[in-house]
Amino acid sequence: MPQTDRAAEIGAEKIRKTYGAFNALSDVSLKVGRGEFLTLLGPSGSGKTTFLMIIAGFEAASAGRLFLNGDDVTNSPAEARAFGMVFQGYALFPHMTVEQNIAFPLKVQRRSRSEVKRRTEEMIEMVGLSGHGHKRPSGLSGGQQQRVALARALAYEPPALLLDEPFSALDKNLRGQMQDEVRRLHREIGTTFIFVTHDQSEALALSSRVAIFDHGKLQQVDAPRDIYERPASRFVAEFLGDINIFPLDKGCFEGNPIAIGADAGAPSGYLGVRPEYMQLHLQNPETGNAIPARLEDLTYLGAETRLSLRTKSDVPVILHVPTAALPAGIALGTQIWAGWPKERGLYL
Ligand code: ATP
Repeated sequence: MPQTDRAAEIGAEKIRKTYGAFNALSDVSLKVGRGEFLTLLGPSGSGKTTFLMIIAGFEAASAGRLFLNGDDVTNSPAEARAFGMVFQGYALFPHMTVEQNIAFPLKVQRRSRSEVKRRTEEMIEMVGLSGHGHKRPSGLSGGQQQRVALARALAYEPPALLLDEPFSALDKNLRGQMQDEVRRLHREIGTTFIFVTHDQSEALALSSRVAIFDHGKLQQVDAPRDIYERPASRFVAEFLGDINIFPLDKGCFEGNPIAIGADAGAPSGYLGVRPEYMQLHLQNPETGNAIPARLEDLTYLGAETRLSLRTKSDVPVILHVPTAALPAGIALGTQIWAGWPKERGLYL
């Protein structure tokens, strides 16, 4: 039952939101394609929720325009946009059963009785709650309640589904299950999803594109792999996982010449390398990039081991090495060499 044809294209043009002298959003421009899964990611207070509320129509922008399928909806009310919503604190109706909760928006829209029944049954099955239709929310687990919220928000085939940290109250395993569920629902239903989170791995795992916010400004919008591998700034690079930062002086780090790939970006005084691309050498390999450092700590993480090193000018270096490839008996305090292929270095 793909709804891609009904899926909304949403455009934001220089959206600004001010609270007194404070800029919660500064000139955010962004296009969300039909059927896309876009995640808004950023630290606490970066403006993600404010932006989502403006898209939903619950907050008015201080300046800028919002478009739905090319029409200017900047001043139209939330009901006219009719987006589905799953928010952390957007509770189910406690006195209604699962079925009644899911049927509610369909009844508000005055759909026929047979359609309400058919659609409610379909949605209960789609979110894996068959047999739970007569229960009230208090008789369901946290994960099951969020499934009902998803079913209720998607029942009337909204042009877009907006989700704000919907799983932050769930434990890690359940959170993973719900992420799989949301991805499957997006694939099956095909409508536009906009998802807010401050969890990097959640954003990378779920989305077709990720929009990074910081201090009310949009920093970068790209596919997960591109945003991780080709961060546009040091902020984005550091926000999305570990990265080693080497200060350069005339092309050298601590006097060692550093080879740099053709795609490293606009030259700057710092080179970034992700820890999983760094290699451990017990001796100076004499070829390629390699810098001497002292092994300070070793953390066993299962499939990978994390090595913390420090160079002679006190620059910390992190390596993620497959545990199976770790040399036996490697001891803390040893001098080793950390290398990387020149293609993996990015100017930041
Ligand atoms: P979190 O992940 O913590 O929810 P967020 O990125 O969603 O953060 P927002 O909730 O959008 O951030 O808030 C952005 C900024 O705007 C914050 O500094 C917040 O304090 C401020 N803000 C939000 N609503 C108001 C308001 N009604 N009055 C004044 N300031 C506000």
